[in-house]
Amino acid sequence: MIFDTHAHYDDEQFDTDRDELLNSMEESCVGTIVNVSATYESCRRVIRMAEKYPMMYAAVGVHPDEVGSLDEEKFAHMKELLTNEKVVAVGEIGLDYYWDNESHDTQKKWFIRQLELARELNLPVNIHSREAAQDTMEIVKEHGRSLKGVIHCFSYSKEMALEYVKLGYYIGVGGVVTFKNAKRLKDTVEAVPLTAVVLETDCPYLAPEPYRGRRNNSTYIKYMAEEIARIKGVTGEEVVRQTEANARSLYRL
Ligand SMILES: [Zn+2]
Repeated sequence: MIFDTHAHYDDEQFDTDRDELLNSMEESCVGTIVNVSATYESCRRVIRMAEKYPMMYAAVGVHPDEVGSLDEEKFAHMKELLTNEKVVAVGEIGLDYYWDNESHDTQKKWFIRQLELARELNLPVNIHSREAAQDTMEIVKEHGRSLKGVIHCFSYSKEMALEYVKLGYYIGVGGVVTFKNAKRLKDTVEAVPLTAVVLETDCPYLAPEPYRGRRNNSTYIKYMAEEIARIKGVTGEEVVRQTEANARSLYRL
């Protein structure tokens, strides 16, 4: 069954048909979804949803664009939320120098704090990194070593992907892999062993072809699996089977 390792079903774009959509996942061969928080406010929301849907789990953390709202009190509350039995990871956390919403120092500080929280609670991490390749690698090497984790929506070189794999991290691949102009990601998928790849939607964002530009959802992962299968010269079923096993190992499910 398909395992979506990174989704945002608390997003308002799902307000009109959330229940219907999530209840139809099983018939589309989607077995497990990890719903990931981005803002501090969404930490509670993703847990509430994971408690409602048996096939759904939650990741709790604050996205680099949103860390400006964090303080010690909120951080302590997040730590409490992370002990909920349906929470499987700290995420999404990281660095985003593309939007650059917060200063690099603020982003780095809370990235490191959240990595250390993951270590303290013995949880894997879900990492967001955009146009911050060097700083992310340095911080992961210093503070994320021996943690389990995934670099979600991987957008860097294949050399860097292989470096993460050597550190024991998984490479998160989503809808972008189906885009015609995504040569770099296709090269990365070719270079990285299938045992180090996990599938994700990042929905409602980044829908694959043939739905590019529209609202994404976990049933579209089949298009990503087919493209990865083509690149790797294996069957789509094999991609789904192996990436599900990888995701279970990552999130310890
Ligand atoms: Zn995300």
